[in-house]
Amino acid sequence: MLYDARNLTPDWFAERSWDLAICGAGPAGISLARRVAGQGFRVLLLEGGGTAPHFESQVFYEGESVGREYFGLDETRLRALGGSSNHWNGWCRPLDARDFRPRPDHPLSGWPIDRDALDPYAAETERILDLGPEPDPVPSPVEGRLEGFHPVAFRWSTPVTRFNAKYVEELRASQEIDLVIRASALEALPNERGDAVRRIRLAHPEDEWRAEARARAFVLCLGGLENPRFLLNSRGAHQEGLGNDRDQVGRYFNEHPHFHVGEAVLRRPFAHMRFVSPDDDLLLGEGVLNFAMRFISLLPARHDGSVGRSRLARAVCNSEAEWSMRLAEALRGGRELDCRDVRLQIVTEQELNPDSRVTLAENRDPFGQRRLRLDWRLADRDLHTIRRGARLVAEALAHSDLGRARLDPWVLDEGAPLPGLDEDEVAGHHQMCTTRMSANPAEGVVDADCRVHGFENLYLGGSSVFATGGHANPTYTIVQLALRLGDHLADRLSDPARLPLP
Ligand SMILES: Cc1cc2nc3c(=O)[nH]c(=O)nc-3n(C[C@H](O)[C@H](O)[C@H](O)COP(=O)(O)OP(=O)(O)OC[C@H]3O[C@@H](n4cnc5c(N)ncnc54)[C@H](O)[C@@H]3O)c2cc1C
Repeated sequence: MLYDARNLTPDWFAERSWDLAICGAGPAGISLARRVAGQGFRVLLLEGGGTAPHFESQVFYEGESVGREYFGLDETRLRALGGSSNHWNGWCRPLDARDFRPRPDHPLSGWPIDRDALDPYAAETERILDLGPEPDPVPSPVEGRLEGFHPVAFRWSTPVTRFNAKYVEELRASQEIDLVIRASALEALPNERGDAVRRIRLAHPEDEWRAEARARAFVLCLGGLENPRFLLNSRGAHQEGLGNDRDQVGRYFNEHPHFHVGEAVLRRPFAHMRFVSPDDDLLLGEGVLNFAMRFISLLPARHDGSVGRSRLARAVCNSEAEWSMRLAEALRGGRELDCRDVRLQIVTEQELNPDSRVTLAENRDPFGQRRLRLDWRLADRDLHTIRRGARLVAEALAHSDLGRARLDPWVLDEGAPLPGLDEDEVAGHHQMCTTRMSANPAEGVVDADCRVHGFENLYLGGSSVFATGGHANPTYTIVQLALRLGDHLADRLSDPARLPLP
């Protein structure tokens, strides 16, 4: 059923209880609610916004950004049913298997689960995200032929899945799910022992009322920035916030730095967009983190797929002399080479830096909750990955004689500042790792089951639980994790003794 909190009273909540209460109805919350309800359990799904984005709801997302220049915090997310899927671009790819493994030179890296734990959820994730067909298997000029690199594939949600439009009628008709819109979760109220959550306190923006919702288990699916903010604002029993005895909540904020690093001319015709990523040996040998280089077609080719010599001549070769000479020779010989222009865009993983973090600002939202303060930082390793990664691709293009690259001056000059938001995309709107998954409670916030360390019945969903960020867009993995969490919860909920109503 779908309820609007405007038409409910605190008594309505007091008179009921649910097996599971989920806060936040974006891709994570909706996927999770459907999975658990599909196994016969009663679910309360609390959504702070309405059925469509509205300024009145966005105002709760305002906050301070005090680190690297970042998108406006009320612009990079949407606070309405369906969450940020209301404006996502539909790029999808699972994380690499290597993203889950610890790397000796990347402190804290590694997940307490392997990718195998998520693979069984791939098919259902692809149905939920309406993924288009597998990419065109026709090899491009770079795929599989660039020394030290392998091709990586993306798929696109087609037509791009908006979770509100896709699921609102199903949720309205559901007998197991009670979706309450305009019901903002404010804080979690723990029991006296401080090892379980008893209730979620919630509010409606237009009225003065506060209500409390009871359930056997609780999951926060508020997004990569709001999950830590909610925990830090839950100060009833713990001054430092819930699940934060080891000062881990909000740390390790990761994005996917996105930078256009230059242009290249390829010898062979090229279709739209292709991606490569470094092989393990190169990654470890060069001390770079995981990344993908996007080859984005710049210009339509001539009808035969070639472009003229003048364009080739303009490309400043970033390679060793021998290769430059071969190119010059080809040009002198007057041969028209098959080639096309591409832009090179690098998308990288970030180091797990505890100082790149989310904390609480002093000022407050209209409910009186402290707002978000984001301090996004790029570590030396991140800068090295961006610059060295770009050079490695440029060098490999020349060595493989597949083309020539011209890198932008800031890539080659280590002292130069990185482009800002006026000049480039900078990041991907992917907010990750702020309540990361860890086997050791001293290194993260949730365990391998997404359960907050030290809590019986409090779980988190979404990209805040990513232990590392990899380079792939996060929503595919978010949905996989939600489905896996759904099965875990259904298993625990099936035994009332294991998860009693607190
Ligand atoms: C411009 C843009 C383009 C993107 N493109 C891509 C892409 O191509 N591929 C990709 O993988 N990802 C992309 N993303 C990221 C993608 O949108 C997110 O990964 C995804 O939406 C996260 O899902 P979520 O459910 O974890 O969080 P969200 O989508 O943020 O959902 C959180 C939900 O919680 C609700 N909520 C928040 N606070 C409260 C509260 N206090 N009480 C109750 N409810 C609350 C919100 O209203 C929302 O419904 C893009 C993002 C943006 C902004």
